[in-house]
Amino acid sequence: MMAKPRIKEQIEKLASAAGSDQKLASSLNLHKALLEVLRPLDESESRGAKAVDWSSFSATVEESLAEKRHLGLYLDPSLFDLEALRGTLLKITDVLPSLHPSMDQIRRLSEALKTGELNVAEALQAMIVEDAHWLQEKGRTLGVDPSLLLAVMELPMRPFFEELSRRFEDVYIEDWWEPHCPICGRKPPVGRMRSKKLYLVCSYCGDRYTVDLFQCISCGNKDPTKLGFISPEGHPELELHYCEVCKSYVKVINEDKSKRSIPAGLEDLMTRGLDELAQLPELGLAR
Ligand SMILES: [Zn+2]
Ligand SMILES: [Zn+2]
Repeated sequence: MMAKPRIKEQIEKLASAAGSDQKLASSLNLHKALLEVLRPLDESESRGAKAVDWSSFSATVEESLAEKRHLGLYLDPSLFDLEALRGTLLKITDVLPSLHPSMDQIRRLSEALKTGELNVAEALQAMIVEDAHWLQEKGRTLGVDPSLLLAVMELPMRPFFEELSRRFEDVYIEDWWEPHCPICGRKPPVGRMRSKKLYLVCSYCGDRYTVDLFQCISCGNKDPTKLGFISPEGHPELELHYCEVCKSYVKVINEDKSKRSIPAGLEDLMTRGLDELAQLPELGLAR
């Protein structure tokens, strides 16, 4: 059990992941292009921050665990190297249009970065404190879907958060017991089951941590008659865990039953079939 490997290794693992699945191949292609853009940040010593002493976070990690508030909330945005992150954002908006369906919106983002209409320091601050209002407002003025704006703006900080997860995952893994990621605060869409324990896997920073298998991570429902799970035909190693109270679900890769392994970092992409199953009218679930 470990966090995401370094980006170089993530790229290597991608090569064979698609097999003969064409739809998956095109998603993986996009994923690979973005990883290539993030790779120089990942290969710099401080992963997109200014000079960083990683061990200096230890006390903050303990504090965050004790207070049950995720680590990202304790970070000072001035920690980051704005020029490096801005350069990476420009590369991302350069690479994306040919691979992404929302080409026009990406072009508008790219322009806004160049003119300064989209201020990187301000955006970063908004990402760190999870300012949904900023995303809504900025998305509206730029003519960009707020979820797309979020997906692009959060990318350059990912190598940094992945590194935090690599270094501190072990501190939280068995002791966190909250539904959201202890490192970055996001709510994972997918988990891995091992030795009958459920570990959620954060699709942003890659962190893994155990949660209560018998409680809905979205609404806290514990009534066993209102919690269910199903597997797609022929794939007993994949499970959809859902809650009938709030109609949410988590995709689970059951490693106790699985013969083939899904590389770390690809859990969400490689379980798209479970999203399709969840959204069938019979189940009517939402991510
Ligand atoms: Zn995370
Ligand atoms: Zn629920």
